[in-house]
Parts: sequence; structure tokens; C-alpha cells
Amino acid sequence: MSESQIIDQFGRKHTYLRISLTDRCNLRCFYCMPEEGSEMADKPHVMKLEEIVALSKIFVSMGVDTIRLTGGEPLIRKNFGFLVENLAELGVKLKLTTNGILLDQYYDLFEKVGLKSINVSLDSLDKTRMAFITKRDYYDRIMANVREGLKRGFEIKLNVVLIKGVNDKEIIDFIELTRDSKVQIKFIEFMPFKGNKWDWSKGVSEEEILSVAKTHFGGLDVLENPAHSTSSNYAIPGFKGSFGLVSTITNPFCDDCNRIRLTADGKMKNCLFATKETDLLTPFREGAQIEGLIIQSIKEKKYSRDGMDKMVSSHFEKNRSMVSIGG
Ligand code: SAM
Ligand code: SF4
Ligand code: SF4
Repeated sequence: MSESQIIDQFGRKHTYLRISLTDRCNLRCFYCMPEEGSEMADKPHVMKLEEIVALSKIFVSMGVDTIRLTGGEPLIRKNFGFLVENLAELGVKLKLTTNGILLDQYYDLFEKVGLKSINVSLDSLDKTRMAFITKRDYYDRIMANVREGLKRGFEIKLNVVLIKGVNDKEIIDFIELTRDSKVQIKFIEFMPFKGNKWDWSKGVSEEEILSVAKTHFGGLDVLENPAHSTSSNYAIPGFKGSFGLVSTITNPFCDDCNRIRLTADGKMKNCLFATKETDLLTPFREGAQIEGLIIQSIKEKKYSRDGMDKMVSSHFEKNRSMVSIGG
């Protein structure tokens, strides 16, 4: 693996590429998918699977060593298995973020190619509430797939976006899951994107979550954060699993950021909140070298949250909706 050449003006080496395989989804989580729907790329503008592999190769030649597949819902992408097999040959650490509905179809393949790390979005342990949040009824299927993944020894993290008055009373129930299981819970602060009616008064902060956990369980072990970690991590003494807090709003973790995003229509975003995008797919299709574009984009990266000191709607409404960024 070569040393990263994708270095920003703060000296941060970018080694982690998150690729959105589609801007479509089989769920409609209200904090992610705008009620009126989101603009979706036409098929000719979406990266073909062969193009995803070829672009990934270029990133890998420039030092990327980890690729996360996301979306929209990555598992609804046709011939997803073919893509995974081809990406696994690049010698990178492959990871996945999914809503879990279709996971059972792919566990055998993941075992074969060594894809171990899977984040599953699960915002409630209550079937009715999950249906309210996602506007679909797949709770039983998702839970069965999570259990199967854990049984097979996959590293499963559960992504939970807490929203006041919706699922904020479930903090303890989620942490309880870590008592007898090696699962990790990732509580993600509610973030603003185009069309998601963000309002921080609906969000639940890192501080509030920690306070609820400390009051209930008494003590917490503070875990060491791996390099480039986006969460602060904890465990309840004696519990098998752990939990982490992704505090993008109240305590952003950008100092050590090593992330690059590629949207399903082949645009590079140097930050989750970047409003400026760099089209890599069009020049790639025209046969141009895209390494210079990648380097130029990373040189323009701001230190934190695309330069947003506070979350301002005039900025984040210019971004895409989360379902089309690739979270
Ligand atoms: N469909 C897959 C899933 O749900 O895991 C992958 C894509 S989804 C956009 C990736 C992650 O983004 C999910 O864990 C989801 O909870 C998170 N997410 C979406 N909108 C968010 C928001 N407004 N604030 C915080 N996290 C959000
Ligand atoms: Fe779909 Fe994931 Fe967004 Fe939910 S969070 S709407 S599952 S892309
Ligand atoms: Fe990196 Fe931007 Fe996320 Fe900060 S907000 S960690 S700079 S992608």
C-alpha cells in the first residue's frame, strides 16, 4: 500500500474513501430522506460498477487503504456482490453501512472476501417506533439479520440517531444490548442536511447521553479511541460490548479527519458538509487523468465541517440530502 498522496493544507492524510452506491433507498427515515423525496441521479449519470472499481483503484494507488460502501441503501444496488468481489481484490479494508434489510443475502460472500465490519442503522428497539421513523415495516427482518451477523462473528455496530420525543428514552435499552453481546452502539447526533427540517432543539447531545448512562449504570470505562475515530468510546464495566458518541454538532472530531466521499454520480466531496463538489466521473469517462482533481479538491478542504463554525441553514441547505451524499 502506498503512502497517502491525498494530503490537505493541514497535513491530514486521507486514506478512507466512502462510496455511495446509489441515492435510492428502501426506507424513508425522516431525518435523512426529505419528505418531498430527493433529487435522484438519472441512470446514465450514476457510476457503473466497473467505473466504481476503476475509480477505487486510482484512490488506492494514491494511498487509500479503507473503503466503506454506503448510500442510499447500498444493498439494493444491482450486482452488489460482483462489486464487493472486485473491490476485495484491491487489498483494502472493506466496510459497509446498511439498513440491514437485505444483509442475510450477503453474509456468505462477506465471509468469503473478509468484509467484517458492518454498521447497521437501527434507531429503535420498538417495532412500532421503527415503522414510524422509517415509514416502512422491516423491524423483524433487520433484527433477525443483526442477530445472525453477531452469531457469525461480524463486527456489528448499530447506528442510532436520537431525536427528542421520538427515541430519546431508549438510550439505556440500547446500552443494555452491550451487556451480553460484543455489539457496539454508535449514538450519532442529529445533523443538518438539505430538506431534513433540522432543528437542534430536537437533537440529543453527547453530554446528555453520557449523563443518562452515568446516572443509570453508575460508572463508565473510557475506552481508547482508535486513530481517526469519529466517536468517543465507552463501556459499562463488565459488559461485553461498548458504545460510542458521534458528536458532530456539539463537539466535532475533525482534527484527525481522513475521510473522502464519492457520491453515486461520481462527485468527490472533501467533507460531509461540503457544498462544493468535484466531478470525477465525467473527466474519467473522457479518458482524462483525475489524480490532479482529487489533489486539488483535498487542498480546498476546510479544517472542520466545511468551515461552518455554527450550523447555518444558508450553508447546509446548499448541501445534498443525506440519502444522496452517502453517510
Ligand atoms: N442506508 C444505509 C443506512 O441507513 O445505514 C446507509 C446510508 S445512511 C445515509 C448512513 C447513516 O447516516 C445512517 O446510519 C443514518 O442513521 C445516518 N444519518 C442519516 N441522516 C442523518 C442525520 N440527519 N443525522 C445524523 N445521521 C444521519
Ligand atoms: Fe435510507 Fe439509510 Fe437514509 Fe434510512 S438512513 S432513509 S435507510 S439511506
Ligand atoms: Fe471530516 Fe468534515 Fe466530518 Fe469533520 S465534518 S470529520 S472535516 S468529513
